[in-house]
Parts: sequence; C-alpha cells; structure tokens
Amino acid sequence: MGSRTARTGLMVRQRNVTASAVMRAIVREGPSGRKELAAATGATFTTITKTVAELIELGALAESPPAAPRGVGRPVVPLDVPATRLVVGAHLHPERTSCGAFTLRGDQVAWRSATATGSTRTERIAEAVQLVADIVAEAGAADVLGVGMATPWAEAHHGEPPPLLADVDHDELRRGLRERLPHPVRLEPNVRALAVEHYWWGGGGDDVLTVLVGRSVRAAQIRGGELSWDSPGAGGLVSHLVVPGSDRPCSCGQRGCIKATCTDDALVRRAVEAELLPAGSSQHDLYPADDTAGLRELRQARAEELGRVIPLIMSLVAPGETIVRGRLGRPDEIDACIEAIRHRYRALVGREANVRYDDSTRPGYWARASAALALDRYLATPLEQEQERA
Ligand SMILES: [Zn+2]
Repeated sequence: MGSRTARTGLMVRQRNVTASAVMRAIVREGPSGRKELAAATGATFTTITKTVAELIELGALAESPPAAPRGVGRPVVPLDVPATRLVVGAHLHPERTSCGAFTLRGDQVAWRSATATGSTRTERIAEAVQLVADIVAEAGAADVLGVGMATPWAEAHHGEPPPLLADVDHDELRRGLRERLPHPVRLEPNVRALAVEHYWWGGGGDDVLTVLVGRSVRAAQIRGGELSWDSPGAGGLVSHLVVPGSDRPCSCGQRGCIKATCTDDALVRRAVEAELLPAGSSQHDLYPADDTAGLRELRQARAEELGRVIPLIMSLVAPGETIVRGRLGRPDEIDACIEAIRHRYRALVGREANVRYDDSTRPGYWARASAALALDRYLATPLEQEQERA
C-alpha cells in the first residue's frame, strides 16, 4: 500500500516534469510536433503523446493546422500555446504604475499606464492593485494564468537614501493583490524580471548574467534555463562589494561599496554635493535633455567604476553571456563602460568577455518583463496549475 502510494507519487511527479518540459520547449522553440518534443525533452514518444493529450484537454495546448503539407505521409500537426491564454504584468515606477496583459508568446493584448497619485505607500498599493484588477477584467479574468510584478530594488533597510513611495512593502502588496484576485501572484526585484523576459521572449541564452544599474546595482542569473537564487532575498545582492579604487563611505560602515560608489542614488548625491543638481533631485535628473559637462564627468567616472567591479561579479559566476542594463548615460559613455569591463575581465580571467549593453527603456517594457515573471512561474508547474484552474 505504502509502496504503491510512493510509486503513484513518483508517476505524478514524472508527469508534471514532462508537462513542464513540453510547455517550456514550445514557448522557447515555437510550435512543435510530438516527435520534435520527444527529441527536445528526452521523453519517449508514448509519454509525449499522453502528456500532450492531457495538456490539450486542459486547454494548455492546442493543435494548430500546419501551414503547408510537409512531404508525403501523415502531416505533422504542430502543437502550440493557445493565443487566448494570458499573463499579466505590472510595474511600480516612482511616477506611475503600468500594467499589461500578454499572450504566452509575449504579444501585448492590453496595456495601460496611470500617473501615481497616492501620497502614502498604502495608497500606492491600492492604486496598483486597482490597475491590475482593471487590466485582468479587460483581458478576461478566466484567461489570465497569473500576475507578475517587478518591484524596485532599493535596500531600504539601511534607511539611506530614504525609500520612495514606490518602495512599497512586498507583503502588503501581495496581500492587496490576493484580496482582489484569485490568480497566482509573483513579486520579484526588477532585475529578475528582466532576466526571465530576456530568456522567454528576448531570445536569451541558457546561461546569462543580467546586471541592472539603477538606484541600486543588482544581478540576476539564468543558468540552465532557470533563474538562480530561487527567492528574491536569496542572492544577487552586490551592493556591498567593494569597487576597486573607491573609498567612498557606505551606510553599512564599510568604504568603497558599489552602493556608495556607482548607483544612480550615489551619483545623485554626488551631483547635489557638487551643486550640479539641486537638492531633492532624482535619478532621471542625471540624464537631462540639456546635458552639462559636470554630469557627463560624473557619469564617465561611474562607467569606469562599473568597468572595475562588474568583471568581479562575472568572474565569480562565470556566465556564458553578460548583459548590462539600465540607463547609464550617452551612447559613448555606455560604450566606454562596456569597453572597460572587457579590458578588466581580460586582465582578470585571461579570456575575452562575452558582454554587451541592452537598452530596456522602450514604453511598455516593464509591464512585459513583469508578465514574464508570471509566465516563468506557470511554466514551472503547468499541469498542476491547469488542474487547479479546471
Ligand atoms: Zn556598504
């Protein structure tokens, strides 16, 4: 009796693993036939046929007629994710909240952005939750598989610089969403949303380190198709790595930390001290339309600092590819930063660095990245989640 239960448990687990592998292969590679899926997942054709039948019955997969007959014999009927299934993503920006609904292929079906009006964090949460609920209703609540939210990553626990209204309490935000919506919710720091968006919808590889430079500097790694460090607080915190050559005092008591040296917050503070910007300036003031020589100099120095410290992170986790994101500055400043990283990496590791800059500022981007968090969650256990929905 006990061994039969154990065996059944094992079979259920195996079925779930195969279903996840099938769904992941289809989202990554596009519509696929059963034979291709068997090859891609390493499962037998019989197992694939059974799993696919189950996923079709649950509505997770659909057979799409082939565009043209392929040779003689029975035509291959590719399987695809239905365009009706959606994931929703939302993002809290200091000045606005944006939210969108996307197909599992990343095509946008609804999107809205609302100016932030709340004067407390609780009000910001209520606004965001309302916007998400509106988009879910617009997209059709029954078609939505889950909701993802990317949150800013300021390490507010040192209290310096003071948190913004958009730095809401994650637990309170999660509670707010759960009170309004029955859907699974996933909240993650913004850099992790960028990493999964790139993997599922951006053609990203299996082994990519993403470094986001913003109010803080943060890292996320996709390894073997999975996001490393499986809980938000469990890794990727590089704020207190020391930038070689920096002796700027940090709120943690150490000198030369990334946080004190090369974040947007550190740069704003320096710009205010040097009277390049008025007190109360925020990160976007570092990149004004009418640029000044003083700000340019600050950004250039920061590009060099990043060039000294990012290779240390790369040499630690040894990714196949590194992508630097964030606003950083003008194209020549960005190029100088990437060049400095290459130069230093070569000196440290003795190999060429596979590193590039990726611009993520297009409108609607953050909602999409946040929605990718929901997709990533769904694809981890699609069969279980479909069974719960059924
Ligand atoms: Zn520190």
